[in-house]
Amino acid sequence: MITPVPVPTAFGGTDTCMLMTFHDQTPLRRVEEMRADFVANASHELRTPLAALSGFIDTLQGPAKDDAKARERFLGIMHAQATRMARLIDDLLSLSRVELSAHVRPDTLVDILPIIRQVGDGLEPLANERNVRIEMALPETPVSIAGDREELLRLFENLIENALKYGASGGKVEVSLTMESTSEGVPEIRVAVRDYGPGIAPEHLPRLTERFYRVDVGDSRAQGGTGLGLSLVKHILNRHRGRLLIESVPKNGATFTAAFPQVKAPPAPPASAAS
Ligand code: ADP
Repeated sequence: MITPVPVPTAFGGTDTCMLMTFHDQTPLRRVEEMRADFVANASHELRTPLAALSGFIDTLQGPAKDDAKARERFLGIMHAQATRMARLIDDLLSLSRVELSAHVRPDTLVDILPIIRQVGDGLEPLANERNVRIEMALPETPVSIAGDREELLRLFENLIENALKYGASGGKVEVSLTMESTSEGVPEIRVAVRDYGPGIAPEHLPRLTERFYRVDVGDSRAQGGTGLGLSLVKHILNRHRGRLLIESVPKNGATFTAAFPQVKAPPAPPASAAS
């Protein structure tokens, strides 16, 4: 930017000199590029099912007009495509809601055990469909964190659903809660979701939480995936001051762990003055 600046001269007057300032536009440009990429990706993802829908509508109005069998089959596919679009829009809205409130930390104490159990119960039909057992190893006593119940439901739903979708069918998914410490000695509550599926090759691991990133796009679409689930998980964990740990041994499954800071016990009430 070039700005005219008045400067005093040796003879008592003022002169104008030009001040040139340099601003590093790189971070700003990167944010703008990311935003443009995001819009392009979102449009592409929405356009795919939309194109399929309009193609089937054309077919139903034309060649398949009087073919009852074809009509039934096409309506089934159209229903699946419409469901996919709705899921994509839901995920986009959740993501933008969580991103917008990134700076506000949830401050209500919630017990996460009933939340995890509720997610497990809700996913029982998918587990049955995939012939997978969900095994929970959870403590008996409540485990509280400062959190947002709805977001935590979304978080565990994404992790357990992924384990069921991408893990081995006919196997098991283990959900466990442990108290551990980071290498710096910070105490954490860790909820690990482990599957015994094909796992994930190491080169994909750092990119899994990027929006729309999928290891195998075809497989993810076939499973009704949007590529937004783990991005949402990461943002929810950030808002809860937590972190996501991913470990995988190709051909021997994957473990996704949501780690939350342990809540400090409230200060003990002052000792009674009466003796
Ligand atoms: P999606 O909606 O496609 O499931 P996610 O963001 O939840 O999107 O996951 C991103 C990708 O990570 C998935 O498409 C899949 O390729 C891979 N992935 C996620 N969880 C697992 C898992 N448990 N085992 C193997 N691959 C996984």
